[in-house]
Amino acid sequence: MENTKEMRTWLDELNLDHPLVIAGPCSAETEEQVLRIAHELKDTDVNYFRAGIWKPRTRPGNFEGVGALGLKWLQKVKAETGMKTATEVANAAHVKLALEHDIDLLWIGARSTVSPFIMQEIADALEGTDKIVLVKNPINPDLSLWLGGIERLYTSGIKNLGAIHRGFSTYEKTKYRNIPEWQLAIEFQDKFPDLPLINDPSHITGKRDMILDVSQTALDLNFDGLMIESHYDPDNAWSDAAQQVTPAALIQIMKDLKIRKESSEEVEYNTSLNTLRAQIDVIDNNLIEKLGKRMKISDSIGSLKKDGNIAVLQSSRWNEILGKMILEGEQNGLSEEFILRMFKAIHQESINHQEKVLKS
Ligand code: PEP
Ligand code: MN
Repeated sequence: MENTKEMRTWLDELNLDHPLVIAGPCSAETEEQVLRIAHELKDTDVNYFRAGIWKPRTRPGNFEGVGALGLKWLQKVKAETGMKTATEVANAAHVKLALEHDIDLLWIGARSTVSPFIMQEIADALEGTDKIVLVKNPINPDLSLWLGGIERLYTSGIKNLGAIHRGFSTYEKTKYRNIPEWQLAIEFQDKFPDLPLINDPSHITGKRDMILDVSQTALDLNFDGLMIESHYDPDNAWSDAAQQVTPAALIQIMKDLKIRKESSEEVEYNTSLNTLRAQIDVIDNNLIEKLGKRMKISDSIGSLKKDGNIAVLQSSRWNEILGKMILEGEQNGLSEEFILRMFKAIHQESINHQEKVLKS
């Protein structure tokens, strides 16, 4: 992809003094619901009104969307409020209908990005149009699959592009519905610094009270915008009830966010500094999480040693680990002294954990 600058023309032309905001219900439910939410969101920072028409649910039997009928409601939103509209497309037939109904922005869902067949079908169906197309990350943390989807669209002549980070599904239980893996988003920006990157804190968190926090992290990491699900009666929404916020709550979130504008030299300096700090925070959190996991494994080793009646400290194993880590550290620009001090501390914590298990 040669000219990545042109991908963000659509965003630059909006000339926003705040991050791009795409908001609206997870699903269009009824005409009344769609219009009421749209009216409550008009005259706010919201730039695009979103609503899912075709809802790809993980398992059948749940509400699967109102279908093409909902596109007429989105047209009414545009006519009545002046807001631009956005919906998800998952195949060529969806694209055709969305184009016929003059939807302004299309996004491709996480369950579609995983399939190169679907991505190619959508790219072919969009050829020759100037729609804005945003590609959500695939459900699994696979950067190539995500980039590949965007490249397919670009190759079909779609130049108004962007990516949406909606987190990744995992078998581990975490506080997130889909873990953000910020590191991957940082790598993504390294590869395509000009491609607009939008954060979807709704699907990352799955819980409305975490949305402000995740949105702030995203803005600190230089994301260009947010996609937030909003419903006037979130608890009774037909899909994703726990994560939707009322229009009033959304307005409050936008007020509470610390938004940094790049205007003066000093602001620019602070922005760069904050971006780097946010990256460090992500890595520090990862370190703590990994160390916690390491100690849990130590606990398991402790129980094994208890059953086998084996001593906690085994110096040969310890020396072997240290030797390997010193070499590993050297390759990563870390001094021997630092590695020794750090691993001594880790080892001590590990012994404490195992002794606790042995004494229990
Ligand atoms: C959505 O935005 O409502 C949606 C279905 O998201 P995702 O593809 O991220 O699961
Ligand atoms: Mn949803």
